[in-house]
Amino acid sequence: MGTHSYVDACEICGGHANINQSTRPPSTSYECYDCGWWEADQEGYEGSGFIILSEINDLRNENGMDDLTHAELLATRIRIKGPIPSPMEAHYAEYASVINRRPASRDP
Ligand SMILES: [Zn+2]
Repeated sequence: MGTHSYVDACEICGGHANINQSTRPPSTSYECYDCGWWEADQEGYEGSGFIILSEINDLRNENGMDDLTHAELLATRIRIKGPIPSPMEAHYAEYASVINRRPASRDP
């Protein structure tokens, strides 16, 4: 028992970070819905890093937030000098608009 969750400004990007603090055993997990930074210190689950766009959007959807676009994540990662997200992380519709600059036609 004793889990406390709150949204705070991300220490990396200033965006929306979700911080979960558990008292027994004492542990903290941190995940940012804007830059994708996560950290955990719970025994057996310690770690930190950046999650990919689809994982960020899964978390955002669970919390009733709109999807982050690849362009938004890219801008944030450039600003914080983080890893640049692959174009393959973009939603298909967004990715297609990049690789397919002319609208495709199915007419002969
Ligand atoms: Zn962040």
